Amino acid sequence: ANEEAAASAASALRDTGAPTVFDRILSKQIRSTVVYEDKKVLAFRDISPQAPTHIILIPKERDGLTRLSKAEERHEEILGHLLYTAKVVAKQEGLDDGYRIVINDGPDGCQSVYHLHLHLLGGRKLGWPPG
Ligand code: IMP
Repeated sequence: ANEEAAASAASALRDTGAPTVFDRILSKQIRSTVVYEDKKVLAFRDISPQAPTHIILIPKERDGLTRLSKAEERHEEILGHLLYTAKVVAKQEGLDDGYRIVINDGPDGCQSVYHLHLHLLGGRKLGWPPG
């Protein structure tokens, strides 16, 4: 069981196409604080918030979108919907002074979960450039 857990932890850091922790959030095996949901998108609070508001938005169907660099033309609609939903959630969260949307892609982008997601960060003045 330990080996299994270690293998699953290691594969989580690479684009293997294996199920991720977000699948378990979607299936409610893991509890999360959902702030928005519709047919295509789920938005929930990040477990390790990097700002007063830190929300993760994911497509419910991964459909090959382990990371942004895997996007194909058929993904245009869901990508647009995710970005628009980030704006809706930012408004709902009262981020009237602004916020930041982040997509980490791959090892250089520090991506750790290979199920495409947007980070919505706000509630304080953010630094620029990012690290
Ligand atoms: P990435 O580093 O861009 O791949 O972002 C993955 C994010 O998912 C990180 O900010 C993690 O803190 C967050 N995360 C990982 N596991 C959970 C969880 O179980 N609930 C909520 N957020 C999570």
